Amino acid sequence: MDFKLDEKEQKLWERAKQFTYEHITPVAHELEKKDEFPKEVVQKAYEAGLMNLHIPKEAGGPGLPLLSETLVSEATGYGCAGMATSIMCNNLAFAPLVIGATTEQLQKYVEPLITGKEVKFGSFCLTERDAGSDPAGMLTRAEKDGDEYIINGMKCWSTNGPVASLFTVFASTQPELKHKGLSCFMVPKTKGVKIGHIEKKVGQRNSVQSEVFFDDVRVSKDCLVGKEGEGFKIAMMTLDKTRAGIAAIATGVAQRAVDEAAKFAASRKQFNTEIGNFQGISFMLADMGARALGARWMTRYAAWLADQGQRNSKQSAMAKAFASDAAMQNATDAVQIYGGYGYIEEYPVEKLLRDAKLLQIYEGTNEIQRLVAGKTIIREDGEKDTGFVIKYEGKDGPLT
Ligand SMILES: Cc1cc2nc3c(=O)[nH]c(=O)nc-3n(C[C@H](O)[C@H](O)[C@H](O)COP(=O)(O)OP(=O)(O)OC[C@H]3O[C@@H](n4cnc5c(N)ncnc54)[C@H](O)[C@@H]3O)c2cc1C
Repeated sequence: MDFKLDEKEQKLWERAKQFTYEHITPVAHELEKKDEFPKEVVQKAYEAGLMNLHIPKEAGGPGLPLLSETLVSEATGYGCAGMATSIMCNNLAFAPLVIGATTEQLQKYVEPLITGKEVKFGSFCLTERDAGSDPAGMLTRAEKDGDEYIINGMKCWSTNGPVASLFTVFASTQPELKHKGLSCFMVPKTKGVKIGHIEKKVGQRNSVQSEVFFDDVRVSKDCLVGKEGEGFKIAMMTLDKTRAGIAAIATGVAQRAVDEAAKFAASRKQFNTEIGNFQGISFMLADMGARALGARWMTRYAAWLADQGQRNSKQSAMAKAFASDAAMQNATDAVQIYGGYGYIEEYPVEKLLRDAKLLQIYEGTNEIQRLVAGKTIIREDGEKDTGFVIKYEGKDGPLT
């Protein structure tokens, strides 16, 4: 077993860390106060080759594995989870297309967006006001009309919605079939696509989310991704991949909390000694470090499984829940170690706390991750004969 990254991965990891050090960490705190989309930084990330890594070579991308994406997400997430979300959002928006679209469709709709000088964005539009954890309840409809579909509905929380050129929209083509009636469409920014309210958030302010309205939007039938009725399956296959990306951003936040807290504990003195010398603080740091380490390897394992072509629903759900809980706990502990200084804006850890919370909510709340993981465990492992029962078998059969 080898825990080392290969040479290409190691170079990408170093490049992403260097990018974070130069372009994200120094500006993240100030930029988030403006509550604006950090276009300049994202443009630089695009020029540095840190975006759209999963787009296949035939469609103009580098065709890198999911593990590579998680390296960039962890490194950028270390600097700022909001900026990492802005930078990595195309992974979420384009993943359904990489999964379900033909090479010709990718060449026509995605390639022009990822090969120009200026960075362009996609936006993933699944969630609606009354359909969050349960997307089967969505109201957006797509009706076939000759060689076109007409899309009507409204999506919310669409990350990068206000700056997007292409929307990956899930809509019902057969509402009576619930989730089996959902279909996936690529919708260019065209007549009838309107951006609504832009959300004001507690954290991750270096990313942008909005409502998107689709009013009688006509798209050609070649904007359908896969077949009619395959939308739900495509969405779930997408999330199996992209949840590893969120877990990676969370790992970055969890590690940053360890590093900031350790630096502070090594210099802050009370009772004539550095507070890191108190066992209460060093034990806290040990637990924080263990959480970050666990999050990293669960994330990389979930990505590696996908790269081997293996089903990873359980592992990516577990990694997302574990890593985002780790980020939240580590951020809370870092604030505690900073004492009063942890609670004011001039120090780095209050932002970690605000940014981490969202990681437990978006791309499926952690309750939904536990639902996915729990159901899979019961299905896959519930029937397994562990040999344990035999040990306790009495003469009248297994003891219960
Ligand atoms: C900043 C941000 C960015 C986002 N970006 C995108 C995006 O780009 N594209 C997109 O489509 N969506 C996006 N989302 C939407 C996000 O994925 C949803 O908010 C999330 O899935 C939860 O849906 P909800 O907010 O409607 O909560 P609800 O589904 O209403 O859940 C409310 C509470 O009930 C719990 N709950 C629900 N069902 C169950 C259950 N079966 N068992 C146990 N508990 C349950 C939830 O865990 C939660 O605690 C984003 C959200 C935010 C906040």
